[in-house]
Amino acid sequence: MELKIKNFMDLVNVRSQHEPEFLQAVEEVAEAIIPYIASQPHYSGNNLLLRMVEPERVIIFRVPWVDDTGEIVVNRGFRIEMNSAIGPYKGGLRFHPSVNLSILKFLAFEQVFKNALTNLPLGGGKGGSDFDPKGKSDDEIMRFCQSFMGELFRHIGPNTDVPAGDMGVGAREIGYMFGMYKKLRNEFTGILTGKGMSWGGSYIRPESTGYGTVYFAQSMLGTRGDTLEGKTITISGSGNVAQYACEKATELGAKVVTLSDSSGYIYDKDGIDEEKLAFVMELKNVKRGRISEYVTAYPKAQFFEGQTPWSVPCEVAMPCATQNELNEEAAKTLLSNGCFVVSEGANMPSTPKAVEAFQAKRILYAPGKASNAGGVATSGLEMSQNSIRIKWTREEVNEKLKTIMNEIHESCIQYGKQEDGYIDYVVGANIAGFVKVADAMLAQGVV
Ligand code: GLU
Repeated sequence: MELKIKNFMDLVNVRSQHEPEFLQAVEEVAEAIIPYIASQPHYSGNNLLLRMVEPERVIIFRVPWVDDTGEIVVNRGFRIEMNSAIGPYKGGLRFHPSVNLSILKFLAFEQVFKNALTNLPLGGGKGGSDFDPKGKSDDEIMRFCQSFMGELFRHIGPNTDVPAGDMGVGAREIGYMFGMYKKLRNEFTGILTGKGMSWGGSYIRPESTGYGTVYFAQSMLGTRGDTLEGKTITISGSGNVAQYACEKATELGAKVVTLSDSSGYIYDKDGIDEEKLAFVMELKNVKRGRISEYVTAYPKAQFFEGQTPWSVPCEVAMPCATQNELNEEAAKTLLSNGCFVVSEGANMPSTPKAVEAFQAKRILYAPGKASNAGGVATSGLEMSQNSIRIKWTREEVNEKLKTIMNEIHESCIQYGKQEDGYIDYVVGANIAGFVKVADAMLAQGVV
């Protein structure tokens, strides 16, 4: 089996040797799926995984725009249309200077499995740009978004490809891009999710990734007859996912003690309660400030410059910042401090060695494609509401989100429960996602 996996990775490597993040994401899936395919004769011999690692289409384009000083700036835009076997391409747009083909292909590949896990008819895609929104004026953001959509509009549509937000793309950017699409096409239609509440957005969409990550942690704890109540939680990040994970965890009786951004982390041993979280939301979403300012408002808290929060003792960790933010050393520190639940809010935040360390200690570890699927699931619900031109209530959407997260958890158990009773959520999530996409691909022939 080892040899089969190695041979497969060698093949992928030929075309993607300069794409480390993509190779990392593929290897994790290959390790779970290749042994499974070998045990299921009807999947064997169809080169299904080989077809899945090749995007159906990659679009790369120029994004020229004029900054506030009158200078013409050129960024690179991307859209990876990875797999449409079970629905229109679906996945976010990331605006961040680190964006490149490797990162977007890894995200698009993860998205295929994640979206399948939601049981909604969503294919997988991802896109974005190496544009850095940090420090840009509102006008610059608008001009950039308009230029970006000036090309992307040709490739998307409610039945073709439906982007959403990701890092650097929130309600403001979605608004500017939606406006440009509407002007160019002269149609008001659900081509993006994460829209504003008064123009086609869904309740709970902003909250859903963070809420879902917490619901998933709650389900994992449930397998051991435990709950989040009274638990100490470390969260990394301070964007949309981290904020709402903090909100829901606190509501369920846990104490969240850390948040972070690229400059460092804050530790508040008394817990980041509702009032303090409101401060963080204003700071991050409106003033677009740095997390270090938290300690000016709450002097009992501490700021640790340039560090990640994983040395803080906790029972539950929720990495909600970015890929590979939690390495082996951090994993070992978490474990030695008593952490026994990790629910990923970001995509692939733990390195392979960190995952190995978690699983070796048999802790409750959920990969992002399972635990952060609540965001895209609610995007799927937004698409449904747009199609039937109706708006469900907050309660209705939240109930549907809970049901979906619960079903994802059940699927992970179905395919990931080991002989000794340990639930391998990585294997479970990958196989459950694969089965759905593979069945559709087999039914639709070699296309
Ligand atoms: N960017 C989010 C993710 O990683 C959401 C994608 C979407 O809603 O389409 O799943």
